[in-house]
Amino acid sequence: MANNQNDTVSKIVSLCKRRGIIFQNSEIYGGVQGFYDYGPVGSLMKNNWKGLWIKNNVQQRPDVVLIDGSIITHPKVWEASGHVKNFSDELVECKSCHKRFRPDLIDHATKCPECGGEFTKGRKYNILFETEIGVIEGEKVHAYLRGEACQTIYLDFQNIINSCRVKIPFGIAQIGKAFRNEITPKNFLYRTREFEQWDIQYFCRPEDMDKYYQYWKEQRMNWYQNLFNNKDSLRFRQHEKDELAFYAKIAFDIEYQAPWGWAEMEGIHWRADYDLTQHTKFSGQDQSYLDPVTHEKFLPHIVETSGGVDRSFFFLLLDAYQEQKLDNGDIRTYLKISPKVSAYKLAIFPLASNKPELVSVAQKLFDDLSKNYSVDFDDSSNIGKKYRRQDEIGTPWCAVVDYQTLEDNTVSVRDRDTMSQIRVKIDEIDSWLQKQLN
Ligand code: ATP
Repeated sequence: MANNQNDTVSKIVSLCKRRGIIFQNSEIYGGVQGFYDYGPVGSLMKNNWKGLWIKNNVQQRPDVVLIDGSIITHPKVWEASGHVKNFSDELVECKSCHKRFRPDLIDHATKCPECGGEFTKGRKYNILFETEIGVIEGEKVHAYLRGEACQTIYLDFQNIINSCRVKIPFGIAQIGKAFRNEITPKNFLYRTREFEQWDIQYFCRPEDMDKYYQYWKEQRMNWYQNLFNNKDSLRFRQHEKDELAFYAKIAFDIEYQAPWGWAEMEGIHWRADYDLTQHTKFSGQDQSYLDPVTHEKFLPHIVETSGGVDRSFFFLLLDAYQEQKLDNGDIRTYLKISPKVSAYKLAIFPLASNKPELVSVAQKLFDDLSKNYSVDFDDSSNIGKKYRRQDEIGTPWCAVVDYQTLEDNTVSVRDRDTMSQIRVKIDEIDSWLQKQLN
């Protein structure tokens, strides 16, 4: 069954709540717009999603190092970056229904898309979250929660070249929270006020900028394409001339075909030496790099890949959502998600919860496998319900300990996507699982 109907978003939202993946934050108080919590299943999935990014972009690359920077920085950082002056969104309000819109998100329509009413004049609002450092009145310092995670990478640039034996070209990667007081948070995790970004800032010689820009652009698209089922739902969108920052020669977004239209997932940015120049200017500290071989001193240029962790995770769920009509007319819902991202690699059930001889074998299997894998154990009563739950959270395989197990030491293993079942020997299940995961 086609899975990109317009109501897929509401189906995902309800599945996420029903199965402990994502909850509205502060729901018992009515919720706050633009804030979400990851539940027990979702936290494991998000950790795997981030872990995969780190594995492929840091662990498997000798030229990229990882940092984990602080959310609050010196307030001058945001003056240097231009955010205090320019990090603003325009807002118009409909004079009839009083709904508010960002003109750029409704194609600069002149009438309200909801009721056709007239708009008020646009006003600009800065979307940096403000806070204060210190507790004593008169001594408090006005500060900001970081509006983009990448600034911390520039701040640590000198510390990293002085401590980590990195040589240009090299990258600094980071996954971290960013905060934006978005005027119109919407579409579940797509536009929230607190979210995580994954960034790579790749530092290179100015003359190599073009080469590494092309390289990272392809690299990042390939990464997403390997993990999404529907490759055609991903595309590049080149920025128009009037969208480009003055220092950027070119910019591309990787977009996902969401139910409401093509939507940005990650930006591949040409930052040139803008950031290191700004921080040199505002801090008074030279941010140049000294080439250890040629002894040349220069400001490196930067290729940035900056994506949303939560936003891409949401797109991954949309891509994975499947509804299958069964022979008996029922609809089976499952998440066709990579086992690398699923919360559990295997779920283990005893066929009957009131048979201690089955429960103890299943429990032992859980104890053994959980040393090396994230596995789930469920000894509730109804096997059909257990399969339904695991299907909906995307667990790729379920192992059932049944009466045959007591005779021949095999378990029945069911595949999420095909629902086919095979028998695997208990003492071979670790290597079987290892093989499937690789
Ligand atoms: P948009 O145009 O959608 O507001 P942006 O161009 O401002 O996004 P960047 O500043 O380039 O976004 O941030 C990099 C990535 O961070 C985006 O591609 C997106 O995946 C993610 N991101 C940005 N804003 C949000 C948000 N409010 N909620 C969730 N993710 C976000």
